[in-house]
Amino acid sequence: MNNKIIEKIVETAHHIYDKDMIIGKAGNISIRDGDYIYITASGTDFKSLHYEDIIKVDIDDLSYISEDNKIPSMETSLHTEIYKKRSDVESVVHVHSPYATAFAFSKKRLTRLEGFGEITSEYIEEVEYYPPGSKKLADCASDMLKNEDAVLLKDHGVLCVGKNIDEATLLCEYIEGIAKTQYIAHVLNL
Ligand SMILES: [Zn+2]
Repeated sequence: MNNKIIEKIVETAHHIYDKDMIIGKAGNISIRDGDYIYITASGTDFKSLHYEDIIKVDIDDLSYISEDNKIPSMETSLHTEIYKKRSDVESVVHVHSPYATAFAFSKKRLTRLEGFGEITSEYIEEVEYYPPGSKKLADCASDMLKNEDAVLLKDHGVLCVGKNIDEATLLCEYIEGIAKTQYIAHVLNL
């Protein structure tokens, strides 16, 4: 086990909880380590997440070893499909942050604003709704992330990738920030 990676995931989960980017036991985080990923276990509470809640999973066959009957996040295949299609990505972060998720549940599109990278198109892309944990969601989201670093999952949440976990987390914070700004702007313009 790679202790440094596990500690970084735990630290990031606590940060995401403190930033109100997670609701209940939703959300999952992973870091790539060669042919494996380290990912949060299914049904974990980010507030109290600790070392034993991180599971090492084989990217190719999804096999894993768990000492206390924990199982990897239900979105593990979503993460592994992204790593297979993006050799430059070393971390995937999925959250249900309230403002961005509200956009994902609404018909309003989320406009790209300055603050993170080059603005290449008007809106943050949305992945069509498929049930959480489904192969269809893993396939469609990972396809869209071939050309994007952040997407909204329709009627679900936010999915960001990065060359490291800090970058992917900051991108989630950015998406939540622009969603909040645009929500307030819509209210003020009523
Ligand atoms: Zn989710």
